Amino acid sequence: MDYNDFRRHGHVFVDWLADYFEQIEQLPVKSRSLPGDILSQLPASPPDKGEEMENIFRDFREIIIPGITHWQHPGWFAYFPANNSPPSVLAEMLTAGLGSQCMSWLTSPAATELEERLMEWLRKMTGLPEDMTGVIQDTASTATLCALLSARETATGFEANRKGVTGDLIVYASTETHSSIEKGVKIAGFGKDNLRLVKVRDDFSMCPEALENTIRHDLELGLKPACVVATLGTTSSMAMDPLEAIAGICSQYGIWLHVDAAFAGTAAIEPAHRAFMRGVERCDSFVFNPHKWMLTNFDCSAYFVRNPDILLRTLTMQPEYLKTDADRQVKNYRDWGIQLGRRFRALKLWFVIRSYGVEGIREMINRHIGLAALFETRVHQDRNFELLAPRQLSLVCFRYNPGRETKENLDALNRQLLDAVNNTGKVFLTHTSLAGKFCIRLSVGQRTTSEKHVQLAWQLIREAAARLTAP
Ligand SMILES: *Cc1c(COP(=O)(O)O)cnc(C)c1O
Repeated sequence: MDYNDFRRHGHVFVDWLADYFEQIEQLPVKSRSLPGDILSQLPASPPDKGEEMENIFRDFREIIIPGITHWQHPGWFAYFPANNSPPSVLAEMLTAGLGSQCMSWLTSPAATELEERLMEWLRKMTGLPEDMTGVIQDTASTATLCALLSARETATGFEANRKGVTGDLIVYASTETHSSIEKGVKIAGFGKDNLRLVKVRDDFSMCPEALENTIRHDLELGLKPACVVATLGTTSSMAMDPLEAIAGICSQYGIWLHVDAAFAGTAAIEPAHRAFMRGVERCDSFVFNPHKWMLTNFDCSAYFVRNPDILLRTLTMQPEYLKTDADRQVKNYRDWGIQLGRRFRALKLWFVIRSYGVEGIREMINRHIGLAALFETRVHQDRNFELLAPRQLSLVCFRYNPGRETKENLDALNRQLLDAVNNTGKVFLTHTSLAGKFCIRLSVGQRTTSEKHVQLAWQLIREAAARLTAP
């Protein structure tokens, strides 16, 4: 492709994206593809000769788009959001064009230094302590793996890195913790049996007394408590583990405290919603995802550590071919995470924060939380529905309960209700299980979601419920 064609197609693609954003509400939120639908339309072998971009782009529209679930649709209430924004998309285009591989300072000094500055911005925006240092990771899963590795090395005086793990290091998290914790525990060699899932209180947050009892019991057995993972904003119900109490226990027993605030961390940008962060000044590491709720397209996860030397001692590799003269004066972010190669992710974050300003981001957070509160009120006022967890931030957990069904029937009824609502194509919600009950989640966080969309969701839910139980 010559640069004139590149220019021409580039303009067409940007026009297409602008139309996509403007007209996205006409598309079903959740793809209606059945398994194999897309695969069967793709040739079994690659083309021998290059094809015209017009044809490739036509197939993108006709084959790929029907198999896309539209995360940027304002009727997106599923999982947690992964919202993006036009400034982020534009920056990502520049990143792709530069094609820099930002493993060392020398391989693109601007990428390293912009990332360094942007992490300071994020630290200030979220009210994290001044002595924390940040680095961008691809995902929270990777950041948590880094935390577990750092905790492992701290607990063993950096011996595990030399000799391997001994099977007596213990990790603690609540029963509501994210699946990435168990995955990290397995990858880092702790072993799944050494992950203690501490029981939760009525609001699904970790019970600190149970944590301390479990730690004491492990110590009596001669085991070594190495890491506690506290969650701020659990994935099922946005429960907030009591950080101050947990931090007190961790410092008493000398245990690494990692905080997983993958979704909720963004809310700390609004001081009025920051109370859940109390105690964060005593954690060793902290992660939150601008790629969830901060207008920055996937992937971009912000990982903060109190003591970067531990991270560096855990992960630094110095092969001769990577050594540079600048090493003593600069950060080489390849040593701050798992993989060697790194994308230039700071650029989109810079574009987003400058375009919206901190106030613009706060406005979005407040709007989304307000909309969840509105939906909570609707559920609360309707005697055929019930809340299954206290609303926190922008997530409402509820179910339909007309009051005459057995538990099994209620689970089945709500499953049918969820399918019926999602099949309208106008909204997309997902479920979880809370205290053994099938529960529907309404999670607000897409950039363009407004009151109209939340009212529509509520209307569709009530209509579908009425139809399901009509005599
Ligand atoms: C989304 C989420 C994760 C995983 O995030 P990735 O960036 O996809 O790895 C971890 N923990 C919590 C609490 C989450 O909500």
